[in-house]
Amino acid sequence: MLTSNTRSWLEIHVSRIEHNVAEIQKLLLGTNKIMGIVKANAYGHGDVVCAKELERIGIDFFGVSSVDEALSLREGGISSPILILGYTPPVHFPLLKKYRLTQTILSLEYAKKLNAYALAHDECIDVHVKLDTGMSRIGIVTQSHAYHIEEVKAVYALKGLHACGIFSHFPVSDDLGEDAQAFTKHQIELFEQVLADLKQAGIEVGLRHIQNSYGILNYPDLDYDYARPGLLWMGITSDDEIAIKTNPDFLPVMEWKANVSLVKTIEKGVTVSYGRHYKASETRRIATLSVGYADGYPRSLSNTHAYVLIHGKRAEIIGNICMDQMMVDVSDIEDVKEGDVATLFGCDGEECLSIDTLSRNAHTINNETLCRISARVPRIYK
Ligand SMILES: *Cc1c(COP(=O)(O)O)cnc(C)c1O
Repeated sequence: MLTSNTRSWLEIHVSRIEHNVAEIQKLLLGTNKIMGIVKANAYGHGDVVCAKELERIGIDFFGVSSVDEALSLREGGISSPILILGYTPPVHFPLLKKYRLTQTILSLEYAKKLNAYALAHDECIDVHVKLDTGMSRIGIVTQSHAYHIEEVKAVYALKGLHACGIFSHFPVSDDLGEDAQAFTKHQIELFEQVLADLKQAGIEVGLRHIQNSYGILNYPDLDYDYARPGLLWMGITSDDEIAIKTNPDFLPVMEWKANVSLVKTIEKGVTVSYGRHYKASETRRIATLSVGYADGYPRSLSNTHAYVLIHGKRAEIIGNICMDQMMVDVSDIEDVKEGDVATLFGCDGEECLSIDTLSRNAHTINNETLCRISARVPRIYK
């Protein structure tokens, strides 16, 4: 694949990661270190390139979603510990020790299965115990109605596993509503209760971690061994629409650009794109961009007054977004021509369009927008 600007491309400002990590460290009031979450190809930013930069600036633990993502990091030369945050099917258990990976414990049953494998192969496998304090996704349930502390203790007792960490996850740390805050605080209490009960039983819990990005932004005083930001090291926070408790200063690492492929004038009454949902009410100047939903641009932004930036100005998207192309109105922007660059998110001159604005307009979240940018879009590292 050409790694230059072909149709559309992502500019990855690797050098901004250091600023963002420093900013996270400023926010964290405790002594937490940072576990760099780089799952899903680092939300599309490029797992190895970003993990290398994170490692260079002192990050010494990474989190991914699966064993193949962990292998990608190992093959890319990342030597720090890697925690697999999700499920590893038994067929891949042999890879855990071989690649020095730390596996999350999803349940006692899962732990026993992994333990049986380890004992049969004379291995001791590093694991972190996941606690389900309210997400109801994976982890040993330690909620008020079902507090399975004995199961947690049982994992620590398994001889084939080295339980060297324990963690949980927040579903509503991004919400400062009363209910949400009470829920998150209750999760923290449950987490503390588990830690206290294990200590009482003489169990060394290992590394403790609970904060995702919004857990850092809204609960910066939590003082565990690690915090697990994904979005924040990428420099992404919400626009002003979501209130947060801190006042961070992040620099977005990723910008998305596309080429203008054609500019033309259309007369009043002419329609644009599939479905003919846009009809010119007067003579308009329009530009075609070489990017579409196959690249991951949300088709749901069709006919919603969403815009891109060209020459530092807003150009509204008109008509349905196509698979590989889309059209924008450039009537009010001077001298747009083939080969000009449109910014889908990022900055162009004084004007910036955040991924958060784009995601909100598309009725989704930043994480999804990032992960859906297709592999066919080249990443250009700055
Ligand atoms: C993805 C993930 C994170 C990082 O989430 P952000 O909101 O991007 O900070 C942290 N912890 C777990 C368990 C995750 O799955």
